[in-house]
Amino acid sequence: MVMYQDKPKDGQKCGGCLHFQPPNACAIVAGNISPEGWCAVWAAKP
Ligand code: SF4
Repeated sequence: MVMYQDKPKDGQKCGGCLHFQPPNACAIVAGNISPEGWCAVWAAKP
C-alpha cells in the first residue's frame, strides 16, 4: 500500500525518516522495517 521496499530511493531511507522507530520498526508501516528501506510516505526528520 505504501510501496515499502528494502532499498533507499533517491537518497531517502527509513533511517532518515520522521516515522522510523529504531532499530527495526515504523510508526506507520507494520512489520520489520530496515533502516535502509524506503516507502511512499517517507518524511524528512525536522
Ligand atoms: S514511513 Fe516509510 S520511509 Fe518512513 S520509516 Fe516508515 S517505512 Fe520507512
